[in-house]
Amino acid sequence: MDGTQTPQAAMVLILLGPPGAGKGTQARRLEDRFGLVQLSTGDLLRAAVAAGTPAGREAEAVMKAGGLVSDQIVINILRDRLDGADCANGVILDGFPRTDAQATALDTLLGERGQRITAAISLEVEDQAMIRRVAGRFTCADCGEGFHEDFKQPKQSGVCDKCGSTQMTRRADDTAETAAQRLAAYHTQTAPLIAHYETAGALVRVDAMGEIDTITDALTQTVENAINA
Ligand code: ADP
Ligand code: ZN
Repeated sequence: MDGTQTPQAAMVLILLGPPGAGKGTQARRLEDRFGLVQLSTGDLLRAAVAAGTPAGREAEAVMKAGGLVSDQIVINILRDRLDGADCANGVILDGFPRTDAQATALDTLLGERGQRITAAISLEVEDQAMIRRVAGRFTCADCGEGFHEDFKQPKQSGVCDKCGSTQMTRRADDTAETAAQRLAAYHTQTAPLIAHYETAGALVRVDAMGEIDTITDALTQTVENAINA
């Protein structure tokens, strides 16, 4: 068209699912496997809160209450990150879009960059199990490995199985109360996007109640199908 070499289209995967569905865990695995970059708006917002930026200061209370941060803040943060050189090969959107307005903004952002959504993957889980999953989880501060009080204790208490660190962190919003609010926000504002992407022909549903490895296999297959489509 303009004579320049056309790079292979960058992949854009969307992970949809309630809090606790495993979006972050699976996104990190797909990153390694396909050379993609995980863009978690939750992580980006937590970084903004920690850095005390104006956006972070505005987001902090909303996040603590389990509500959704304003579309404008989230869209701005995502737009900046999408332009990072490391994202050229493709991205996994974890926790974005979460509202109709964000889905529309994403279409515009991708359109401006000559990109499109490869697949929107819905991690299908049972609601009741999610609050317990979220309320008991904690993470290695050094390598990001996830653990859980009831389901996945480190082999040696307080020590990360993966990297040996003894620094564990818990998210401020991973309490039973806030998790219930987050689940409610998911149902009213985000779940309708599943129908949106189904209509667009981009939706893939994956059963996400089983073993983490089994779910990773299903996701890997989905991504490979999308690549070969
Ligand atoms: P989870 O999916 O487990 O709830 P996240 O880390 O994705 O966790 O998000 C944590 C919080 O960050 C949300 O409860 C919300 O307040 C805020 N947040 C993250 N992504 C968005 C988004 N796309 N739009 C609005 N708020 C967001
Ligand atoms: Zn670790």
